[in-house]
Amino acid sequence: MSTENVHLHEINKFGSQAERWWDRNGEFKTLHDVNPLRISFIQQFINPQDKRMIDVGCGGGILTEGLANKGADITGIDLSQELLDVADLHSLESGSTAKYQKISAEALADAEAESFDHVVCMEMLEHVPEPGSVIAACAKMVKPGGYVFFSTLNRKPKAYLLAIVAAEHILKMLPAGTHDYKTFIKPSELSQSARHAGLELVDMIGIQYNPLTKNFSLGKNIDINYIAAYKRPE
Ligand code: SAH
Repeated sequence: MSTENVHLHEINKFGSQAERWWDRNGEFKTLHDVNPLRISFIQQFINPQDKRMIDVGCGGGILTEGLANKGADITGIDLSQELLDVADLHSLESGSTAKYQKISAEALADAEAESFDHVVCMEMLEHVPEPGSVIAACAKMVKPGGYVFFSTLNRKPKAYLLAIVAAEHILKMLPAGTHDYKTFIKPSELSQSARHAGLELVDMIGIQYNPLTKNFSLGKNIDINYIAAYKRPE
């Protein structure tokens, strides 16, 4: 298994929070809150029903199960055994069809090139040393004509203020230390790496938070958190 493109401190950090992953009002509330929005974005482009899909950096499986609920034949992959155990256990309890495997995106792409109808990879790229390598792996594992969806944080001062200072320290929506500004990715950088990997940009949209209503919504502003759909040409 290729484990080169990984920060072990990131895997350990997320793994140490594994048992609180599915606490709807706990430290990962934000992931739970944005989940319906990202699934509705994905559904604008694909129907997950019976589609063979991969969720790269699946964590405890919030998005994986959400897509399994929409009928996807989906496997979540991650390098944190603790999180995969939590994901498996949750799947068992909820009766989800989501499956999980400990493997890197790069190793899966080598083993199963052009094998999946669609690939999702959310809130993960900013935690790896070389996001371009994960993007290329996603492009390699998806079938021609398939979609690859990414979400990440924009490297803009405004994102530092809102995603780190406000979200981690003032509003305490995320555990302190979740994000490191240096690793945020500009939309132009994401699209450049995706293009380099042979993916075409289809759409990109922002995920916004309103601290007054405590609601998330999708909108034009991609300054902070954003989600994008790419397609591998036929
Ligand atoms: N995608 C999930 C979880 C995001 S948290 C969601 O949005 O709900 C980031 C996840 O990326 C963690 O589960 C962490 O273990 C995983 N991760 C970090 N580096 C990784 C790597 N190199 N390979 C696979 N997963 C990785």
